[in-house]
Amino acid sequence: MTSVTHPLNARLAPFGESIFTTMSRLAIEHKAVNLGQGFPDFEPPAFVRDAALRALGGGFSQYSRAFGLPETTSAIARYSKRSIAFEPDPDREVTVTAGCTEAIAAVLLGTLNAGDEVVILDPSYDSYAACVAMAGAVARRVRLEGPAFRITEQLLRPAFSSKTRAILLNSPHNPTGRMFDSDEYAVAARLAQEFDCLVLSDEVYDEITYARSHTSIAQLPGMRDRTVVLGSMGKTFSCTGWKIGWTIAPPEITRAIRGAHQFLTFCAPTPLQKAAADALQQVCDDGSYLNELRTAYATRRARMLGILSDVGFECVPPEGSYFILANAQAAGWTDDVSAAKVLVGKGVATIPASAFFDPNDCDRRWLRFAFCKQEATMALAESRLKAHPLSAFAKFAI
Ligand code: GLN
Repeated sequence: MTSVTHPLNARLAPFGESIFTTMSRLAIEHKAVNLGQGFPDFEPPAFVRDAALRALGGGFSQYSRAFGLPETTSAIARYSKRSIAFEPDPDREVTVTAGCTEAIAAVLLGTLNAGDEVVILDPSYDSYAACVAMAGAVARRVRLEGPAFRITEQLLRPAFSSKTRAILLNSPHNPTGRMFDSDEYAVAARLAQEFDCLVLSDEVYDEITYARSHTSIAQLPGMRDRTVVLGSMGKTFSCTGWKIGWTIAPPEITRAIRGAHQFLTFCAPTPLQKAAADALQQVCDDGSYLNELRTAYATRRARMLGILSDVGFECVPPEGSYFILANAQAAGWTDDVSAAKVLVGKGVATIPASAFFDPNDCDRRWLRFAFCKQEATMALAESRLKAHPLSAFAKFAI
């Protein structure tokens, strides 16, 4: 049998396998505690699971309207008011997608033309640059310097030109845990206005905050008209596998997004959309679940920071999200990938954060630890990390 010689799309060739797939596979192979891929190892709350069971009970097993079940777009519109301070029109401004990853793809494929440029702030979630490439556009990657990872005009301005169609922002930020402040938002907003481009604002960690409450760049004067807010159920309701996400954008931009979405997935899974609608309405009526979520994450954050500093890691304390960056080089390794290889072999899987940078301009210092995990999981990771001093781990580096 002969196989096809060049099956891979050339645009995708530079990206290879996602680091999340690689590290979760290694975690299984090494029976390691998985602090790599960011998924909770606990169940969603009962009211969320019950809503899904009710939806599966009947009436929601066929396609929904392509841009979302009416009850879901309405619930998202009502719920969004808490994080973006305005209520979008559910019929003309909200689109339900198969997770935020599809939302990112739909926005980029729906709005970009070949040769357009998109400004991406590194470190950045791996699908951003891959989707820009799939759209035939060009990523202009700007490297933020750790451990502060601050946006400044000096860094950002050179990346903008008449070809810039969009800037992709993410706050609270994966993997750094940064929540960009009003000065940083103002820099991005000013440049977006000056160069007349879209702001794609990934806000999926909006409810997991420690430093202060989340605000959206869409709330800045004049920004609502050019901002696409991307949200999802996965992080807030601990159901990353449900793959229910959404976009909120002015009607004309929404039409462009829907144009791509209809040919990507047509619609998100209907029963889970229905369950999402019920869950979102419930937290709009009574926000106590969201306060409990934040309290539980503050406890997990303190625990994980404690473990990592006990074993000798210098960490970037996150302002939001469920990730902590730890400095592998300061702990004695040559780089993050060799640290991740050694640690997974010793029973703790992480994500080497160099995967979040432009391969040609890469910061190889940081290991990302996810703390969306039960106490027992963190305790097991602690015992494995404390079994040897870090210096002993580091000398295994290859
Ligand atoms: N958002 C998740 C993370 O950063 C990963 C999602 C995925 O596996 N693609 O860990």
